Amino acid sequence: MIIFGNVLYTISLCQVSLRIVQPCCITTSCQLLNFYLNKLYEMSIKLGFHVSISGCLAKSIDNALALECSAFQIFTRSPRQWKTKDISKEDSTLFVNKLKESSIDFDSVVVHMPYLPNLSAPDSEMYIKSVEVLKEEIIRCGLLSIPNLVIHLGSHLGKGSKNGISQLIKACNTALNSYLDSVTKKNAVKILLENSAGQKNSVGSSIDEISEIFDGLDSSDFGLCLDTCHAFGAGYDITNESGISQLLELVSDKIGIHRLKVIHLNDSKGELGSNLDRHYHIGMGKIGEDAFRTLLNNKRLRQIPFIMETPIDKERGNSDNMVFAKNLICKNT
Ligand SMILES: [Zn+2]
Ligand SMILES: [Zn+2]
Repeated sequence: MIIFGNVLYTISLCQVSLRIVQPCCITTSCQLLNFYLNKLYEMSIKLGFHVSISGCLAKSIDNALALECSAFQIFTRSPRQWKTKDISKEDSTLFVNKLKESSIDFDSVVVHMPYLPNLSAPDSEMYIKSVEVLKEEIIRCGLLSIPNLVIHLGSHLGKGSKNGISQLIKACNTALNSYLDSVTKKNAVKILLENSAGQKNSVGSSIDEISEIFDGLDSSDFGLCLDTCHAFGAGYDITNESGISQLLELVSDKIGIHRLKVIHLNDSKGELGSNLDRHYHIGMGKIGEDAFRTLLNNKRLRQIPFIMETPIDKERGNSDNMVFAKNLICKNT
């Protein structure tokens, strides 16, 4: 039993009940209850950042926890180099054990493919190397027990989107099948296709096009990573609740909402339909605060990790964006 102000709290193992000592305190106790319900809701949301692995892979978990993340994303290697060294047994064990002991679920951890590969490129040396990197990243996710691998859909380099899509489908199926044949016969890693902003020659900026890609993929080992900045750049007006509902309905109809596994939560410096991929601080860009409040409080998205890939500059750092995003949670009720 706790007396806090004029409110008497009786706490048992499975219930918390409030008895109002004085009627004038009903408002206060409602506010307190609301506060704790908000906290519980906030805790159930998986929210975090892309964090650095500098030092060692397991260091990323410390980086995520220091930012109070309940979800996070990493590169397993330098994103701007083709070659990398294998993940040692020691490094993978350290990572897996540390994650097990942390408050973050394995399902809330995401690997992002390096930037150099182009999986939609026409047949070429570049294409072969790109497929190799995808194979390597699937193996690396497996070693780290990370179930989500986000890939960029690349550029058809002027060969047309039909060609780009078929190259991308071939790349995904080849990499996954080779992994299934050589490693475990069982895949625990989902490859998540990230929508693009629609830059010149890019593949996968529209839900229709991504749906076409899914139609050509062999298995259900593929999912969707929806980037809010890219969707806005590609022309989806998600600045308000009805725009967000329309986009989610489209995903539901064309792809299946169950396939939406990760959301990249980024505001946009570029205008609607500008095809610009310029991430900005949450609520400070052209998408705006209301959209992020709606997304973070959307019950359909409750179990999906929200990963922020916001800049670090003089206006805000990661912890500022975390505070800002958390303050949007439940504030519309
Ligand atoms: Zn990305
Ligand atoms: Zn981006």
